[in-house]
Amino acid sequence: INPHYLFNTLTAIRGSLLLGTRLEPGTLVAEAGRITRIVRGHLPDGNLPPTIIDADIVSPGLIDLQVNGAFGVEVGPNPADIDRISRGFLAYGVTAWLPTVVTAPADFYPPVFAMWERIDTAAGAVPLGLHLEGPFLSPQKKGAHRLECIEAASDDLFASWLEQDSIALVTLAPEREGGLDRIRQLVDRGILVSLGHTNATYEEFIAGIDAGARKATHLYNAMTAIHHRAPGAMVATLVDKRVTAGLIPDGIHSHPATIRLAIAAKGIDRIAIVTDMMAATGLGPGTYTLATRQVTVDDTSARLDDGTLAGSILTMDQAIRNVVAWSEVTPGEALHMATAVPARLLGDDRRGQLVAGARADIALWDRSLHVVETIVGGRSTGAASGA
Ligand code: ZN
Repeated sequence: INPHYLFNTLTAIRGSLLLGTRLEPGTLVAEAGRITRIVRGHLPDGNLPPTIIDADIVSPGLIDLQVNGAFGVEVGPNPADIDRISRGFLAYGVTAWLPTVVTAPADFYPPVFAMWERIDTAAGAVPLGLHLEGPFLSPQKKGAHRLECIEAASDDLFASWLEQDSIALVTLAPEREGGLDRIRQLVDRGILVSLGHTNATYEEFIAGIDAGARKATHLYNAMTAIHHRAPGAMVATLVDKRVTAGLIPDGIHSHPATIRLAIAAKGIDRIAIVTDMMAATGLGPGTYTLATRQVTVDDTSARLDDGTLAGSILTMDQAIRNVVAWSEVTPGEALHMATAVPARLLGDDRRGQLVAGARADIALWDRSLHVVETIVGGRSTGAASGA
C-alpha cells in the first residue's frame, strides 16, 4: 500500500470511534477521501474491505482556531511557513487550522492576503482561513500585541478586509468606537467574530454578542475579570449561551480549576479547545519572536521580557490530555471540544464528525491519548513522529 493514498482503496478503521460525544466500538469505512459508512460494533470479517486498520481510539482530526506559529516559523506572508506548520501538525492529530495573524502594521496585511492564494495545501493539515487577532483591540488589554499598531488601526484597514475571501475569523474588542458596526459588517460577510483583548463591561460584551459575535477569544485572558457587581467579559462569556469560549488548557493561561469552571458553566458544546501556539512550539526552550517582539520560552510558557504571556507552546493533543486530567470530562467529550465544536463555529459540516459523507480527516490514538497517526482527506502519513 502506498501510505500516502491509502484511502483511494476502500478502507476500514476499527476501534473506539468518537460518535457524538462518546467513544463507542465501531468500524469506519472510507474511500476516496471521504467517510462512506459508520457501523456500530464490528463488521463481520466477510464484509470487511481489503484494507483494515485497527486503532484504540478513532476521532475526527483536530481543528485549532488559533495558531500564531510553530516549528520555528510564524504565520505571515511566506507560504512556505504555512506549509511547514501544516506538515508539522500531522504529528499532533491536527487536520485543519486557522493561521492567526496578531496585531501588525497596516502594510503587513496585503502580503498575507496575497500569500493565501499561493499556499500549498496538498501535504498536511488544511489551513481553512485566516484568523485576524487585532488590531481592533483594547489598548488596556493588549497582552503581547503592539500598542502603536492598535492605536494606528484605521477604518481604511478594516474596509480592506471586507474585500478578502481568506478571512475566517476576526478577534476584536466590541467596546472600541465603531466596534459593533464592525461586528455586523464582518458577520454580513460570513466571517466569524470573536470578542477578545477587551476591556468591555458586561453590557458592552453582551452588545457585541447581540451584534452577531459568537465566540470569545482565550477565555480569562486579556478580558475584564469577574467582579460580582461588575461582571465584565468573563461572566458574559460564561453565562451567554450564544457564545462559544476559546480555551487554552495549558495550566498557564488558565488554571485547572478555571477549566472546570468553564466546562461547568458552558458545557462541552460551547467550549473550543485552542492552543494559541507560537513559533517555539515543537522546538523547546530558547529565544523566539512573536510579531517582531522577542519572546523567551521555557518548558511551559512563552513570555515577553516583562512577563506578559506571548502565546503558548501547547499542542492540541497535549491540550486534550490536560483537559481529561484536570476536569471530569471523558476523552470523548474532550475530543468533541477540539473537533465538532470548532467545525460548527466555522459552519463547516464536512469536518469535525465521524459521519458518512464527511471528509476522511481522522486522528488515530492510543489508549493514553497519544496520536498514532493523522489522516487528512484520506491521505495517511504513516506513524506520527512527534507524539
Ligand atoms: Zn490573544
